Amino acid sequence: MGTHDVLVIGGGISGLTFAHEAARAGRSVLVLEQAPRVGGCLATHRGASGFWYELGAHTCYNSYVGLTEVLDACGLAKAVLPRARTHMRMVEGDRVLPGSNLAMLLRQFSWPELAVHAPRMFTAKKDGQTVYSYYASIVGRRNYGKVLGPMLSAVPSQPADAFPAAMLFKTRSTRRQEYPRSFTLQGGLASAAEALARQPRVEVRLGQPATSLEATAGGYAAVTADGARHEARVVALAVTPGAAARVLAAAAPELAQVVARVKEAQVESLGFAVAAAKVAHLPVSTFLVPQDDVFHSVVSRDPVPDAAWRGFAFHFKPGLDRAAKLARAARLLRVAPADLEDVAEQRSVLPSPVLGHEQVVAEVDRLTSAGRLCVTGNWFAGLSIEDCVDRSRREWARVAALG
Ligand SMILES: Cc1cc2nc3c(=O)[nH]c(=O)nc-3n(C[C@H](O)[C@H](O)[C@H](O)COP(=O)(O)OP(=O)(O)OC[C@H]3O[C@@H](n4cnc5c(N)ncnc54)[C@H](O)[C@@H]3O)c2cc1C
Repeated sequence: MGTHDVLVIGGGISGLTFAHEAARAGRSVLVLEQAPRVGGCLATHRGASGFWYELGAHTCYNSYVGLTEVLDACGLAKAVLPRARTHMRMVEGDRVLPGSNLAMLLRQFSWPELAVHAPRMFTAKKDGQTVYSYYASIVGRRNYGKVLGPMLSAVPSQPADAFPAAMLFKTRSTRRQEYPRSFTLQGGLASAAEALARQPRVEVRLGQPATSLEATAGGYAAVTADGARHEARVVALAVTPGAAARVLAAAAPELAQVVARVKEAQVESLGFAVAAAKVAHLPVSTFLVPQDDVFHSVVSRDPVPDAAWRGFAFHFKPGLDRAAKLARAARLLRVAPADLEDVAEQRSVLPSPVLGHEQVVAEVDRLTSAGRLCVTGNWFAGLSIEDCVDRSRREWARVAALG
């Protein structure tokens, strides 16, 4: 048996939350992370000037009760930064269209089509519906294709038409009033991952991809790419579904096959800082949504303003090279590519759930219910940070109850 009680594979928010819960319960935890940093989709880029921007997740809400409890426990409540309201705007070619949020929607919608369909919003149910079938029934097919579909795809940075409608947005009734309604952290959201990785009884090893898992007499052993074996009584897999299926293939082939049914999308994010004076023409606090372009969305750092710099992350569809991405970004912002400073890139893998996803989750839970192998991530109840925290805490509670 190894020297740790618990082994966690994957150092994103799911794995680190699991590690946090186990460590708080007095267990020693080893986290194996393949990347040279923790955080996964919490991917803050920090420049030499101290200006930071997000290449991945950017916003937490005070309805993320589980996350705020974890932040409290890590002493991070004092590092919370409120975010100003974001203005979602549409982009047509190189033009940012007038109006934002509801006003933008009302400008862009065809009113006769909306008038015919809108009454359905009082009777339509999300259960058993895709994002397309649910929302197109409420706004009409043309309104969906031109306006609402691109907006809904911008949220998970991938085509969202086939997502189960119930998974995309969730109403969370409880709010922590002592937290701002929407917030980030000093130094960006990666600060949460970094604080979790520094907890007592948690050891994180970076650059350690797990390649396979083996069942042992006392628990499990994970094998890393360098051939090392790491044994523990409890193992939590907190990686993307494709990676989980590969790691599980030998030790739990039936589970691996179920997990492999979850499809994935790649998001290629490119971020940069621009001197604020050079983009003074661009409205602040923007979340830009193109009608049809090579990117899904542009997220600005404006909700946490800086006097000298503005930061932007373009979330591209896969396949463009860096020069083409820079050129597209510069053209839309009406600056020269050389004006884009502190450029950084990040490739994220996100789940692409489809109708019937809850059956996959139920199968995973059935196959793991009695054992000390835990599976967590952003592909259970939803993709948000809070969904990850919630899943990891539930998985820890389940396995802790086994004794
Ligand atoms: C562009 C973007 C914007 C987003 N915006 C928001 C937002 O504003 N608010 C919000 O709530 N959510 C947002 N999300 C979603 C949210 O950030 C993610 O769903 C969540 O952070 C995923 O966490 P995770 O730990 O489950 O997975 P990941 O963050 O993907 O972490 C998995 C980790 O496992 C590691 N790993 C993979 N394979 C192996 C292996 N074999 N061995 C060891 N390690 C491995 C990876 O390197 C990674 O670090 C956004 C996501 C993206 C991509």
